This record gives sequence, structure tokens and C-alpha cells, in this order.
Amino acid sequence: MGAKGHRDEEPADDAVGMSGVGSADDAVGMSGAEPEGDSGAMAATSGPSPSMSGAPGPGMSGDGVTGGSGPGGGGGPDEPPTHRTCGVMDVHRRLLMTSPSYVAARARIETQTLELTTREALPRLSGIARIPVVVHVVWNTPAQNISRAQIDSQITVLNADFRAANSDVSKVPSVFQPLVEDARIEFFLATVDPAGNPTDGITRRQTSTTSFGSNDAVKFSARGGQDAWPADGYLNIWVCQLGGGLLGYAQFPGGPAQTDGVVVTHTGFGTTGTAAAPFDKGRTATHEVGHFLNLFHIWGDDGTGCTGTDEVADTPNQAGPNTGKPTFPKVSCGNGPNGDLFMDYMDYVDDDAMVMFSKGQVARMTACLETVRAPLVTTTVVRPAPAGPVVSWSADRLDAFVLGIDHAVFHKWWDGSAWGPSVTGYENVGGIGLDAPEVASWGPDRLDVFVRGANRAIFHKWWDGSAWAPSQTGYENLGGIGMSPPRVATWGPNRLDVFVLGANRALHHKWWDGSAWSPSVSGYEALGGVCMSPPAVVSWGENRLDVFVIGIDNALYHKWWDGSAWAPAATGWEYLGGVCASEPVAVSWAEDRLDLFVVGTNGRLYHKSWDGSAWSPSATGWELLGGVCTSTPTAVAWGPDRLDVFVTGTNSALYHKWWDGSAWSPSPTGYTLLGGLVGELRTAEAAVTADLLPVQASATDGVPTSDAVG
Ligand SMILES: [Zn+2]
Repeated sequence: MGAKGHRDEEPADDAVGMSGVGSADDAVGMSGAEPEGDSGAMAATSGPSPSMSGAPGPGMSGDGVTGGSGPGGGGGPDEPPTHRTCGVMDVHRRLLMTSPSYVAARARIETQTLELTTREALPRLSGIARIPVVVHVVWNTPAQNISRAQIDSQITVLNADFRAANSDVSKVPSVFQPLVEDARIEFFLATVDPAGNPTDGITRRQTSTTSFGSNDAVKFSARGGQDAWPADGYLNIWVCQLGGGLLGYAQFPGGPAQTDGVVVTHTGFGTTGTAAAPFDKGRTATHEVGHFLNLFHIWGDDGTGCTGTDEVADTPNQAGPNTGKPTFPKVSCGNGPNGDLFMDYMDYVDDDAMVMFSKGQVARMTACLETVRAPLVTTTVVRPAPAGPVVSWSADRLDAFVLGIDHAVFHKWWDGSAWGPSVTGYENVGGIGLDAPEVASWGPDRLDVFVRGANRAIFHKWWDGSAWAPSQTGYENLGGIGMSPPRVATWGPNRLDVFVLGANRALHHKWWDGSAWSPSVSGYEALGGVCMSPPAVVSWGENRLDVFVIGIDNALYHKWWDGSAWAPAATGWEYLGGVCASEPVAVSWAEDRLDLFVVGTNGRLYHKSWDGSAWSPSATGWELLGGVCTSTPTAVAWGPDRLDVFVTGTNSALYHKWWDGSAWSPSPTGYTLLGGLVGELRTAEAAVTADLLPVQASATDGVPTSDAVG
């Protein structure tokens, strides 16, 4: 296992990373202004089943050859289609027959993909891949010249679907829920055009062509369409009138740049304007972008046979496409009892029936983004989970927990005179953790450790001063399907509050009162929201909890428990503004006092505080603290009106600034370079993190039950 570093490295004093100066303050990241997103993002969703029950994964899909014919078209000439038809395989076969370089590229890409997705460690993006999009509106009738609102509604859908933040992910049958995966991909309308000029990411052109087909004419100005923007800098999406019942089509990676991208008929684009049921939930673009990122149809494109494959291991073998709104279970190819994964975006069902990508599909898309589509990823937003946590339950006492290479949890401690069990040694406390453990201490010689298991359930163990319970390497299973690591707060002896995102990304909560877990050992209270970050939890007093999350619009949201009820509502949230690129960090140094830190999309650190009566600088505004941060900040308060904040700069060195009650030092936006000590820490942690990733693959080798994180 990787050991934590020691502070004996000499600092590197090339202050590359951070300085008070920083480049132009383009204020892209944060402002008091409300972001473009729908501000209701957090509010509406009422929590679904707190029934986050663990369940085994489905079987493997069959192997076989890709190919065969897809289903034919349907629907009237230019009427809104009534069932899904996608032209991707027509394009694929055409290119295979006409382009030797495409044939070679496809072979190379599949070899790379196979190599990356069959390693013990599935590929996983270290941050969030952000992809710039240009939408080319090619219209014949004014109605086809779709509105900005319709385009925005499509971007919103893509961002929800590729982050598994779509509220209807709750439709996934419980047996398939462990397969649901966050692809960690976000999309935004380009802000700079190929010539370097500002743009809204939309082109519009009137055409005399009344309807287009899958022959790519729409991608060329000379053929009545609109030329592509460079494919290594933009995801090109053409929106036009498609004919013959065609909803959309895509080009797999490896094809010509001039035709790279996806095409969607305007009645299947977005959720408003001309979007028409049953394809008015924006899922045609989700499906086509799936192809663009190298996903095949889930049934394997072999007609209705059982020999095709989508080259994804965790999707059940399936005969042909499903259409409409199937009822679970839908068995084919002997894949009972659970049957087809028809609620997957890569099937042919109606928009409101497709709600998920699987882990295996996400691994393929990730491999694609790390290889052939790598130039497209302009920004990788840094949202690392905090490293192994450390707690202190008395002066001169530290307890640190990290994940080992085997994903077990390891512990070491400082007792005031020496490290135990030894300077370089660790105590193995068992488990198979998906990410860094979370630890809390509510009294002397008391530790409570929480970790998300390979099946995403939350597991717990505790130290009572003499021994680990339930056993040295065993864990108590607290249920759930966590989409985030757990976060824990304690406001008094024998009191624990555990927060985790559920399968639908709503916040869920459970608590220990000294005698029992509520609402039950494996149950959770649903607190609403669609959360894009693990929650940050802080308690400044008895029976008081404050929880902060990043919403789907990347703004910060807050809710609090005052001892009797959740405010502003059981599932509602207070909007605190911002466009956050890190998870929030919350600390409190006094009663009714809160300090929050986030990194903006421009890499700057931002701060806001609550003094008991109001937020400063304003309810939705933020104080700029400068810097160019490459990690989630760490903040501690060791006394009244004292804050110390640590961030990592672009040179991987650690930087520090502090608040003494009257001012930030060394300056409002300046930092003190602490040098190389973190370089070493980060290296050690990176090793641990890299080795933690294979846990993603473990759904295929069985899901641990009850006591078995060990
Ligand atoms: Zn398709």
C-alpha cells in the first residue's frame, strides 16, 4: 500500500502555481450572478426510494461478431418519428466500405479500447471531462430554426445524463441499479469559434433542402448544410429536418473530421420548442453522443440474433432492439430472470424509458476520451475526493486512515510520542473500499470509520478504546447504493450523522443516537436535490447540522437541521450561487458561524461566510481568494476567528493562506508557498488512488454482502 509522505522534502521555490497576481481576472468562474442553469435544479426532485438496497449485478453479455443489419426506418416522410431509428450503422458500413483509413482506425481504436477496458483498473477520468459543443441549426421552415431555449434544454439533458444526475434514473429496476455509472462528462456551448472569436456556440443557416438523410449532406455547406467546425476542438451537433423517420445518427470515432459529430432531427432535440413526444426528453442526443464516444447499440447490431455484442461486459446479451416503453423484466437470449437492460440509453426505447449508462459503457467512453477523443477534452475540472482523512480526539493524538492497494482500509496513529503501529507500518482494518474512508470521533479513544464498499453500500466500523467492532476486519453494513463517498458529522457523544448521495444523486441521511440507526440499519432519509459533489457537512452545536452540495448547475446549495426540522424544507435547498469546480469545503469555528470554500471553474479559490445573520459578501456572492488551484482546498479552524486554508498549485506544491480575524494573509489573493512537501504527498496519494480504481470492475466478480467488505 502507499504510505503517506513525510515532510522532509526541500521546497521547490519556483512559484509557478500560485501567486497573488494571477492572470487576468476573467471572472469566468464565479460571480454573484445566477448561472444560466435552471435554478430549480435542486428543489424539485423529491427523494425516491430510500430503499437503496444492494443487489447483485447481472450476467455477462455474450460474445460474437459485430455487424448485421439494423432495423429499417419508420414514420411518415417528415412527420415526427413514432419509434426510434438511428442511422449510425448505415454510416458505419458506408465508411467501412469506402474508407480504408476508417477501417484501420476502427481496428486500432477497438484494440486500444479492449486493452484499456480489460485491465484490472478500468479507465476512470481523474476529473470531469468538459466538451465544447457547437450546434449547427440548418433550417428550411422557420419552425425548424429552433430557439436558444430548445438548444439549452438539450445541453441540460446531456449534462444530467452523462453525470447520472437525471432524476428518472430512479426508474432503473433495483437489480440493475448497481450498474448505473456516472460518465463524468459535461458539455457546454463553445465560447470561442475556430477563428478565436467569441461565439454562443450556435450556427444558423437556412437551406432549400426540405429534409436530410444519413448521407452527411447536412455537414457540408456546398450540399445545403453547414460545414463542421474542427473535430478536434468541438463536438459538432447538426439539428435539421431528417426524413424517413430517422431520429438521428452519429459517426463513430475514427472517421473523417469533416463529418465527425452527431445529427438529430429537430423534433427529437431538447425538451421544448419543436420537440415532440415520445422523443421530447432529449435522449436522442444522449444516444447519439454515446455512439460518438464509441458505444454500440446494446443488442449488438445483429438484427434479432443472440450472437452480436456491444463489446461491453456488463450489459446482458440481448436479441434485438426494444421499442416503446417495455415492462421489466423483458427476457431474451436466455438472459432471465432480469432480462434486457432496455432502460439503457443505447437501446431503442422511448425517451422517457431510457435512463442510464452502465459501468462497462462508461469504461468504453472513458477509453475513447483518453485516446482518440482526447483532443476534445478542453477542461478537466478537478474534483478529487479528499485523501485519507485524519482525526484528532485529544491533544497530541492523530488517527489517519487510507486505502491500500488491495482497497482494504489501513490505519496508523500518533500518540504524542511515536507513530503506531510503527513509523512506516499500518494496521489493516479490512474491507474493500471504493474510495477514501471517512472517519469521525465523538469522544476520547472513540473512532467511527465509514467507507463505501465495492457494491456502493456504506459500511461502518468503530473503535471503543479497546477493540475494533464488529471485528478487527469486519464491518457493519449500512445499506444504500452510494453515488458518493459518505460524509459524517458528530455533534455530541454517541451521535453520528451520515450523508451520502443515493442512486438518483439526491442527498440521503441516516443517524445514530446511541442506541440505534434511524430510520433503520439499512435505510436512509431522502433530503432531495440532484447533487454533483459529495456533501460537505459541518455541525457547530448540539442538534445542529449544515450540509452543502454542488447542484447540477454547479452552484452551491445549502440545507440545515435546527434540532426539529430541515430547512428551508425537507427536500428543499437554499441557493448560494457560484460556478464550482471543486467539492465544497465547510468549517465552523464558533456557534452559528460557517466558512465555505470552493474552487471556481477558473481555478481561483472562493470563500463565503455566515455570521449568524447573513451571508458575506452576499447570499449568492463570493469573495475571491486568488490562486490557481488543482485540488479541492483543505480548510481548518483551530480557534475563534482563525482559518487556515491549503491548496495545491499547478506545480503540485502546497500553498497556504490564513485568516486572523481581521484580514487574509499574506494578502487577500496571495499565498505562501509551502513547497515540495505536498509534491511527495500527492505522489503517494496518486498511487493509492490509481490502485483504488479497479474497484470499478468488481461489480462483475460478485457483490459483497453484509459483513463482507472484508
Ligand atoms: Zn444508435
